[in-house]
Amino acid sequence: MKGKFVYQCVDCGETYTDDKIRYLCPVCSKSNTKDNPPKGVLKVLFDYEDLNRKNTTLQLLKNTGFLDLFPISKLESLPNLKVGNTALIPLSSIDGHRLKNNVFIKDDSLNATYSFKDRASAVVSAFAKEHGIDTIITASTGNAGSSLAGICAAQHQKAVVLVPEMAPLAKLTQILMYGATLVPVKGTYDDAFDLSVEATENLGWYNRNTAYNPLTIEGKKTVSFELLDQMDGKLPDKIYVPVGDGVIISGVYKGFEDLHKLNIIDHIPVIVAVQSAGSANLVNNLNNNSFSFVPSRTVADSISVDIPRNFYMAQQFLKKYRGETLLVSDEEILNASAVLSRNTGLFAEPAAVTAFAGMLKDNAEGNLVVLSTGSGLKDLQAVQQLISMPGAIVPELEHLMSRI
Ligand SMILES: *Cc1c(COP(=O)(O)O)cnc(C)c1O
Ligand SMILES: [Zn+2]
Repeated sequence: MKGKFVYQCVDCGETYTDDKIRYLCPVCSKSNTKDNPPKGVLKVLFDYEDLNRKNTTLQLLKNTGFLDLFPISKLESLPNLKVGNTALIPLSSIDGHRLKNNVFIKDDSLNATYSFKDRASAVVSAFAKEHGIDTIITASTGNAGSSLAGICAAQHQKAVVLVPEMAPLAKLTQILMYGATLVPVKGTYDDAFDLSVEATENLGWYNRNTAYNPLTIEGKKTVSFELLDQMDGKLPDKIYVPVGDGVIISGVYKGFEDLHKLNIIDHIPVIVAVQSAGSANLVNNLNNNSFSFVPSRTVADSISVDIPRNFYMAQQFLKKYRGETLLVSDEEILNASAVLSRNTGLFAEPAAVTAFAGMLKDNAEGNLVVLSTGSGLKDLQAVQQLISMPGAIVPELEHLMSRI
């Protein structure tokens, strides 16, 4: 291998060198249409043979910040912000009942902009820095945009975020506060996506779009490295992942696949793709020969997706490593949200709590990890139906007692 890594098309298997910026496989993406998931998403492959010759261990990788498995040349290119290395929080009982399994919540609301998306933005931003590009554009329904905006602020880069007309206020506020250029686009996420690609092709800006820029997966895979380390080198029995476009779940798989190729782990754990029943186009098409979709409608806006952009890669991973799938209703998501918060002190947005709802429904045994991908403060509207805001009392003990 000449460079540090190559890109491989998940559909035709063709490989491409890393000496220029690449997005989709030029051959497979030619026939992409609007009503099907895009073909030609690229996967980054490192020189595993060479790393094996050097007897790479988890400890060695850790000592060098996993740089050998990153598509960047130095760690200093990453932002000076808290990205990754999030807490893994054990949960031993729910509402006073001891659990029969060992549940751990990976709390990715602890990232700098309060979502898992920072893992991807950090690597994309570092890559742009190393290639002398100072403007990064993305189409986003919220978290990818607010994440890119925050990371770019830290890196003194310019972020341009195209959003469909309706995205939750907190995420839009973040984008503006971080000083990014926010451009609402009349139309859907797909329209914003196409415009961002046109801007990339014509203006030379770098593009962070999910399942378009292959490096987002390289950022997202870091969660798997951390999990192995936090569980003292032991793999969990199951990992529950919320799924929209299928990039996070592919990132989780890619991290374990890298470690497996280096003989650091001897198998890939069971990964459970959890979708909202109102936005289940990835799960429902997994075993179909042709793709068809139902328009999505769910309280979990970050995973509300008609055509999952990373469908083919996620499908390949789930089949190859015998992943499982689960659907949960909006009601189950909202109930799980309250259960999680009152039992752990964590507050997660509906999309993030979807994985927890799946874990509750699955009722599996063993060591279970639940990815919690974003903060509940990002979408306060969604949980208002669960609570009622109390009115004020006269400040006397008797009135206080009437409320207890
Ligand atoms: C983006 C996102 C997801 C889903 O990730 P996909 O790659 O689209 O499957 C889940 N939770 C949150 C909070 C997100 O922002
Ligand atoms: Zn191809």
